[in-house]
Amino acid sequence: MNLFDTFGRVHNYLRISLIDTCNFTCTYCVPHQKPDKKKAEQLMNAQEIVAIAGIFIRLGIDKIRLTGGEPTLRKDFGHIIRKLSEYKVQLTLTTNGFLLHEFVSDLEVAGVHSLNISIDSLQEERFNSITKTRGFQQVYRNIFLLLQKGFHIKLNVVLMRGVNDEEVDDFIELTKNYPLHVRFIEFMPFTDNEWEKNKVISFQELIEHLGEKYDLIKLPDQVHDTTKKYKVVGYKGTLAIISSVSNPFCSGCNRLRISADGKMRNCLFAQGSTNLLTPFRNGEDIVSLIEQNVKAKAFQYGGQQMTSDIKNSQMLLIGG
Ligand code: SAM
Ligand code: SF4
Repeated sequence: MNLFDTFGRVHNYLRISLIDTCNFTCTYCVPHQKPDKKKAEQLMNAQEIVAIAGIFIRLGIDKIRLTGGEPTLRKDFGHIIRKLSEYKVQLTLTTNGFLLHEFVSDLEVAGVHSLNISIDSLQEERFNSITKTRGFQQVYRNIFLLLQKGFHIKLNVVLMRGVNDEEVDDFIELTKNYPLHVRFIEFMPFTDNEWEKNKVISFQELIEHLGEKYDLIKLPDQVHDTTKKYKVVGYKGTLAIISSVSNPFCSGCNRLRISADGKMRNCLFAQGSTNLLTPFRNGEDIVSLIEQNVKAKAFQYGGQQMTSDIKNSQMLLIGG
């Protein structure tokens, strides 16, 4: 069984947000008015996450990414990832990396090979100012701890003009000696995150800069990839650009999302969601709800225009 939308796109990739809170307060993610923390009983418990994931897997999902808020903040994170690994799916996560050292063996046992760690600056003061933490040293240490343990590490960098764009070359240099995979993400608008078009470093602008400075090789991209991948000749790692704003990749979209409170979204920019948790708790069959949600998917950006007026939820709640 497969989940096709009305544009013939097959959906086999599910991103599950485990928690709606975070230990960081990244400026581009968390709005000034922090959303109220939900009560524990409003969030999916571990058993519900595993059971709902199982339903999606029967519908053709073969890749699951755990995200948040910050997924590792959940006390039962290790248990959840181990239970999910009993399914035949590719399992991965996106994390700010701060608590990763506590979960290395859970990730190993769960067979997680590759994960995304967010780091927007290699300068301690700037990192700490973007995240409003003192987390730089610990995140940086954890990146290298996992690298040394043999994990495939992708670094997520949200580029913002006038904030961290002068560090592009420093990130590229990191790929010279280390097999790290840097992904520059275009800054996207979300509710109350002070997005402005001129703060976005577009794919075109970035690739022109990189092309002038480095001897780049284009690497092959797959149909569902959100990234355009490159490598500097002779460097151990790679770089990629996620051009959600300037050059969307919606035609190959295979992604579905569930928030920590069990609401399904068919797009980061979807205005509506489908509550799966309540009917699931009432013992109802949620398959038709999932199918209807997929069928309602718009072709691009949830049917909206990418402007500062775009109506969506908060990244913290949707989970990136
Ligand atoms: N806390 C985890 C982390 O930071 O990796 C997981 C959740 S976070 C919402 C997932 C990803 O979304 C991160 O890589 C983050 O940088 C990215 N993100 C958040 N807000 C964004 C925005 N406005 N534009 C582009 N990417 C964003
Ligand atoms: Fe937290 Fe990740 Fe959002 Fe930063 S990007 S505030 S680490 S959820």
